[in-house]
Amino acid sequence: MRYIAKDAKDPLVIEAKLLLATSATYDENPRVREIIRLIYGGCCAFCGSTVEEGSYYQIEHFYPKGKAAYKSRDKDLENLHYCCTRCNFRKGRVLRDKIMSPNYFFDKSGNWQDTLPEKLEREIYYVGHMVYAHNYNPGPIDRGAETITLFNLNNTDPSGKSHRGYLVERRLRHYNLIYRQVQAVYNLLEWYHPSIDLAVNLLLENIMEYFREEHPWSVMVIHNFGDDVLKLLMIYDALKVKLATS
Ligand SMILES: [Zn+2]
Repeated sequence: MRYIAKDAKDPLVIEAKLLLATSATYDENPRVREIIRLIYGGCCAFCGSTVEEGSYYQIEHFYPKGKAAYKSRDKDLENLHYCCTRCNFRKGRVLRDKIMSPNYFFDKSGNWQDTLPEKLEREIYYVGHMVYAHNYNPGPIDRGAETITLFNLNNTDPSGKSHRGYLVERRLRHYNLIYRQVQAVYNLLEWYHPSIDLAVNLLLENIMEYFREEHPWSVMVIHNFGDDVLKLLMIYDALKVKLATS
């Protein structure tokens, strides 16, 4: 977890707030979700993962959405966080007043306080894959520890799918592999010639394997590379048509 500023002068923040003000719901305009993704750098607000295994990212409401008491916060940008489904599930549809959040927390009186970046980094810090808590200014609540426990950020159960080290490494391995293949197809298409058709086809076939619904990485791949692959296929088709008619 890292500090996420939502600076009122940031053009993205201004745009999102305008869109939210004129929308009936927080997700009415897909551009809002895209802006939130950009503000969070494509990382889950809580576990910080960049590529989520078997799941799409969601928008998390720190004050739970749809509850009468917090209705005014349903479309409040400060209340919306980019979040992986795993963390969103663990957070649940309740107000968590003991954990840290990327930009605010609740004080002893239940008031909303701005989380300072230095404070967040002192209370929760990473060493490699592992996350540690330090109750820097000892109080009744160790927010760092509560956060780590709630999201099970240090799951080291080797049989668990969300084992922290495995999760990060497996994602990165598949992500990098597909990334390299997508880049290779881009490069080949730039110098496209019938003699390299077989190579392009093989690479595309490899990539398309990941898109099969039953592939364990399909959702992650579609989420991260869907637009790229669609673009590649369109370029490829156009080149083949051009060659056939010339
Ligand atoms: Zn997460």
